[in-house]
Amino acid sequence: MGKNHNGGYKIVLTADRTLMSEYHGGIFLGFSACVPKGIIPDWAYFSFFCPSVGVLENGAAKYAPYGTRKVEAALLEYGFKADEVVVAHPEHLHKVIGPNTRVVGVTENDPLGIGPATTTFTEVLGGEAYMKIKFKELLNHPAIKKYKPKIIVGGPGSWQLEPEHVRKKLGIDCVVIGEGERVVGQLFEKAVKGEQLPEVVHGEVVPVDEIPVIRNATIDGLVEIARGCGRGCRFCVPTLQQFRCRPIKDILKEVEVNLRAGRRPLLHAEDVLRYKAKGFQINREAVAGLFRTVKNYPGVESVGISHFALSSVAAAPDLIEELSSILDVRKDSWMSGQTGVETGSPRMIKKHMSGKCKPFKPEDWPSMVVEAFEILAENNWVPCATLIIGLPGEEEKDTELTIELVRELKPFKSLIVPLFYVAMGAMKDRTTSFTLEKMTPTQGELFLDCWEHDLEWGKVLLKEYFVTRKFGVGYGARLILSYAVKKGMKLIQICREQYDCDVKAMVDDVRNGELEVTSKPVKILQRIIKH
Ligand code: SF4
Repeated sequence: MGKNHNGGYKIVLTADRTLMSEYHGGIFLGFSACVPKGIIPDWAYFSFFCPSVGVLENGAAKYAPYGTRKVEAALLEYGFKADEVVVAHPEHLHKVIGPNTRVVGVTENDPLGIGPATTTFTEVLGGEAYMKIKFKELLNHPAIKKYKPKIIVGGPGSWQLEPEHVRKKLGIDCVVIGEGERVVGQLFEKAVKGEQLPEVVHGEVVPVDEIPVIRNATIDGLVEIARGCGRGCRFCVPTLQQFRCRPIKDILKEVEVNLRAGRRPLLHAEDVLRYKAKGFQINREAVAGLFRTVKNYPGVESVGISHFALSSVAAAPDLIEELSSILDVRKDSWMSGQTGVETGSPRMIKKHMSGKCKPFKPEDWPSMVVEAFEILAENNWVPCATLIIGLPGEEEKDTELTIELVRELKPFKSLIVPLFYVAMGAMKDRTTSFTLEKMTPTQGELFLDCWEHDLEWGKVLLKEYFVTRKFGVGYGARLILSYAVKKGMKLIQICREQYDCDVKAMVDDVRNGELEVTSKPVKILQRIIKH
């Protein structure tokens, strides 16, 4: 315990409550972070879907978001002492903030609830995103209000806080956009000394040898193997432009940190299959070598991955087979990871994301996606793919091509999450975001097709996913999800048959009370729970 414990730590790092959960270790339930408040009672949401990470006696979080751990490591390397910095749980800030506290650093993914996933959920289901609510709650914590430390916010969603009026309203002193390691040391030092902070700081790209090794365990045992992407999709955040791979020795040190805390490693990159790639040519030896080394590391029983690109899968099918054998991926213990289908239209690929299909051509995209799904299915990988509705310039024929593609993907065990286009990255000021208001019946049909695909496969995945997991809270989530699957199927049918795929008209009727979506027994249960 630090010597500043009673008077508070000089530097407190934290993140909102929705980021302080491992979501049962599943990327599928991770999407529930975007579900708006009010769909299910708060207590059920935070107990079953978003259970909290453990908290130490001094208020420190046992596991924390990877970005927060990176800032912690960067500050310690800059020269701050371990007893000056704490990574705290947001619900225990009263234990760590006191008269000695000079600065609170907050990591955020989607502080205003305007990221693609949150926008889609709130547009359709109404209400306010939990992430936004919990972020505001954090900034208004009584300990922050009482001791008034400087507030610095960073993380993937910090771009949302760049406008001055937004920062002023929320009481934020400084926003760090982009990579933080090279700038946080000086910034936090200024804050500690009580000096004026710059209001917006754009962190520069950090060379690989300057990326610090984390000191403590991360949520889901996440370990970064490469940073950046380089495929250059126009809607993506520009900070992902430069692709760099970390050396195996640093990766293993972070695996070790997580193992000591009982966390299995989950290797993270925008595309794990491009580890040490030369341009877009997959470096099969390097990828297989990395996975083999991590899998054989003493104490490692299994290895997970975060993201991969479908073009990399199609370019190196034998690598998928080799990785499956190294990681012992089987029918009853499949591998899952996030990926992007985005569209079925080569025209949209060419216009907005021509790097995404490399080494293939935009015209190859739809058949390449099907081929990649086939390869993944043969090797027991389950992709959780995103798809964007309402890309700028999207016409009916583009949507029809995407519908065709989604239907072709039907036989493959997977999820396809339809997201509304959000104007960000290079397109932020040049385009407008997609809304439910703008949805055409064809786009509505695509939206319903994706959800039908997800609910069908969701039934299978739910059964398989929870079969190996302990009952208790996981069982609660499964029960609620099983009910949601049944209900969702019914709603899709109603939308197709009675509304001719006009999702907006149906949502309006639900909001006006003209269409009943909750069954009597559930309503009674909700009433009992609320009282
Ligand atoms: S492939 Fe993914 S991470 Fe890379 S630029 Fe495109 S959207 Fe961003």
